[in-house]
Amino acid sequence: MYTTKIGWIGLGKMGTPMSQQLIKAGYPVTVYNRSKEKEEALKSLGAAIAGSPSILLQQADVVFIMVSDDHATREIFNNDNGLLNAKTTGKLIINMSTVSPGVNKEFAALCKAQGNNYLDAPVSGSVKQAEEGQLVIMVGGEEKIFQQAKPILEHIGKLVMLVGSNGVGNSAKLAINMLLGFYAQGLAEAVVFAEQHQIKTTDLITLINNSALGNVFTKIKGDAIIQNNYKAAFALKHIAKDLGLAKEERLNTPLGEVAFNTYQKAATTLGEEDIIAIIKFINN
Ligand code: NAP
Repeated sequence: MYTTKIGWIGLGKMGTPMSQQLIKAGYPVTVYNRSKEKEEALKSLGAAIAGSPSILLQQADVVFIMVSDDHATREIFNNDNGLLNAKTTGKLIINMSTVSPGVNKEFAALCKAQGNNYLDAPVSGSVKQAEEGQLVIMVGGEEKIFQQAKPILEHIGKLVMLVGSNGVGNSAKLAINMLLGFYAQGLAEAVVFAEQHQIKTTDLITLINNSALGNVFTKIKGDAIIQNNYKAAFALKHIAKDLGLAKEERLNTPLGEVAFNTYQKAATTLGEEDIIAIIKFINN
């Protein structure tokens, strides 16, 4: 049993299993989610509920944020009942959302000015890895603060690495998600090409998974394509968002340009489906 009081904001597909890891590890956890019904699953596991982000920060020592994007992060901090209105000091705020490096730098500075600390700690891996505490966590911030957070983060991830100052954690995440976007589009295009040449999708996926190119991603998403299951584990709208963030950070490479354009267009109709639903866009 630990005494550090944890606060958790954002109980979506990722935040729910990630916060559960900390309850399982024995931390006292208080949660907040904009849509109240998502708090019930955590309540049944023993979490307390806070009425707002500012109340949560007053009650906790370390507050995690796992929300959609820059806009959501701004609301969590800036709203009347947001974190910046908590008027507390000595707290640590860890933003695990995939947001822009600029937003992280901005809120790191505002937290510091209030006497609190801030880390950006986005994750690689999806719902399955979150449920197993096996995420890869890349952190931006000060070494001393990182060392305080690392033992807690190790309950959520199999690898917790400091990569630079505030914002750099998210730059690393954008680099990884560029590759993720390329993988998903590449797998989809290979399947579509093979189908056009009368090769069964199950055969192609078996060949890929047994070749040097097979990996966890091709196994999970290859199965999804075979089963025609596009229910979002990682929503396509999020990769469109991440490539947009990378573009704002001067992404200017041949594949980057193609992937950015492809996912932006696909997100207008397939945004709520899984990233691998890009195959439906390619097929059209
Ligand atoms: P999600 O299921 O869509 O959940 C989004 C969360 O953000 C929900 O708790 C939502 O609250 C909250 N939120 C959105 N807008 C808000 C606002 N304006 N104010 C307050 N809360 C708001 O997303 P997810 O898949 O868990 O992803 C969360 C983050 O992790 C994203 O940045 C994503 O890019 C990143 N990520 C996702 C995966 C993945 O595989 N899913 C993997 C790695 C990283 P409501 O419940 O009220 O809507």
